[in-house]
Parts: sequence; C-alpha cells; structure tokens
Amino acid sequence: MEQRDRSEEQQARTCAWCGRQESDPARTLAWTTAVERGRAVTFCDRCSREHLRAMEGKLDSEFW
Ligand SMILES: [Zn+2]
Repeated sequence: MEQRDRSEEQQARTCAWCGRQESDPARTLAWTTAVERGRAVTFCDRCSREHLRAMEGKLDSEFW
C-alpha cells in the first residue's frame, strides 16, 4: 500500500545542514526540528549544536 511507504519515509530524517540521513528513531531523538521560512527543517544532533551557536552568535552581535 502507498500509505505504508509514506510512513516509512517519514521515519527517515535528513539533516538539512550536512545531508546526513538516519532512519533509527532512537538516534534521531537528539535531532531538532526548526521552522525556517514556513518550512520545517531537521538538524542532526551535531549540526544542532553548531546551528545554535551560530544563532546565538548572531543575536549577540545584533545586541551589541
Ligand atoms: Zn547534520
């Protein structure tokens, strides 16, 4: 059935930053999902940290 194929695709997540793919739900627990330009993007655990740092750095530079 087509619906089964779709649910399997949803379980596999792709990092929008490095393109890394992970289909194991236990490993994507640390992944984060953000909404950018009205579109949901997923970052792996490693890229999430770098992304957060980049965002914090941006905020800091804007505040100062
Ligand atoms: Zn990544």
